[in-house]
Amino acid sequence: MPRYAITTFGCQMNVHDSERMHDVLRRAGYTEAGGPDEADVLVLNTCSVREKAEQKLRSEVGRLARWKRERGDRVLVVAGCVAQQEGERLLKQMRAIDVVVGPDNIPELPGLLGDLALGGLPVARTVFDVDAPRFLMASPTPGAGAQGGAPAAFVTIMKGCDERCSFCIVPYTRGPERYRPSDEIVAEIAALVAAGVREITLLGQTVNSYRDPLGALPRAPGASADDPDESEFAALLRRIAERVPGLARLRYTSPHPRHLTPSLIRAHAELAVLPRHVHLPVQSGSDRILRRMIRRYTRAEYVARTRALVEAVPGLTLSTDIIVGFPGETEDDFAATLSLVREVGYKGLFGFKYSRRPHTPALKLPDDVSEDVKGERLARLFEASEALLAAHLEGLVGTTQEVLVEGRDKQRGAGGTLWSGRTGRHEIVHIEGAGELDLLGEVVEVAIARANKHSLQAELTEAARAAARPRQRVGAGDAAGAEAARPARRVLPVIAAEGG
Ligand code: SF4
Repeated sequence: MPRYAITTFGCQMNVHDSERMHDVLRRAGYTEAGGPDEADVLVLNTCSVREKAEQKLRSEVGRLARWKRERGDRVLVVAGCVAQQEGERLLKQMRAIDVVVGPDNIPELPGLLGDLALGGLPVARTVFDVDAPRFLMASPTPGAGAQGGAPAAFVTIMKGCDERCSFCIVPYTRGPERYRPSDEIVAEIAALVAAGVREITLLGQTVNSYRDPLGALPRAPGASADDPDESEFAALLRRIAERVPGLARLRYTSPHPRHLTPSLIRAHAELAVLPRHVHLPVQSGSDRILRRMIRRYTRAEYVARTRALVEAVPGLTLSTDIIVGFPGETEDDFAATLSLVREVGYKGLFGFKYSRRPHTPALKLPDDVSEDVKGERLARLFEASEALLAAHLEGLVGTTQEVLVEGRDKQRGAGGTLWSGRTGRHEIVHIEGAGELDLLGEVVEVAIARANKHSLQAELTEAARAAARPRQRVGAGDAAGAEAARPARRVLPVIAAEGG
């Protein structure tokens, strides 16, 4: 049996695509290797949103030339956004690469590998499935959660992007927006929940622009027929909540601020399954820069929408993405961004330095903010966001919170296994002194004991401890206990995690 390994660069969408590659390769008879050294086929699933991630791919391929020379029949595959962006050029530039496959061509991967094994030439397949979009489903593992024991899973509801933000390569690498029928989405989520998954994250480049291609959803309460920003996303959330009552949490990423409409805000207020946290990329707090970025909202519109959301769902927290050093960004523009961060009071922030990307409208603008200034602005941005997060986490000490336990920490606490999970607001919580209990996939009540820099330390409440299951031992002296009985969550190697 040929063995394969996958290395993933970039965002959650890529992590999800890697899971689907695992599925198609396993179905075709491949088995997963322990790592690249044991693999016959190595897939690099790439990201091109940031310049650095692309450079990492190039140095990784350079390093892997030796891996290939060790055995002549080894196959190197490049998938993902750099594959889509560069296509055949990659084959010409880097002779170590055998197959280039775009995100929409994942189902064809086993066939391409088969042709190569029969003596075919290196090949690039990067065709968008615009006319008949395909959405690969996750394969649930009964009793174990969809992703090898994980209580959380991703479900893609749309792909591509029609927004054309001037800095972004995604419309070029992922194509125009295509949506998945709502019945198919609900069926996949129901199967995952039946297999033990507790939390679903809906995925899409602009996830809240969703429309059912088959028109199977009723208009959501509060949806306006006249609002150009209205979509059917709120109706989809309601349909999932109604048809899959066993789902504990329903997240989504990444929404566009334009589609944070009254119907979506109302869904947040009325659906208990939606957590009290939204990640809403803003990119800049300056109207002048937002126009140059072609974001299609103003700062005042963004603030008004987020304020309406927080008023509808008291205690809801927001996080965001911000680019510093966009062409033409002055100190005043950056000061406007800093003031927006404080005004909205984000509890999490992904900050990036602007870098020129091929095929983007912003290439026409001079990249006129120096690297030093970009670095200095990024540091100030992080300082502001860390202060907000620290105050927020400190404020939670002494409270009780509900945590969905996602796995075991690598570090071990004094009281045994340290479990970790997230609150409904997405705060990371480490649970101490519960090593004798089996908490994976449970929603448990904890008392917050203290705040770390980016997370919280907690202990189970007495009621939660009394209700929890003890870990089962597989055999006398079996230190792994119930952990051995559960399939371990497969951890995909991720080189660089970045927001979109
Ligand atoms: S930043 Fe987001 S909304 Fe804008 S073009 Fe890229 S993927 Fe689309």
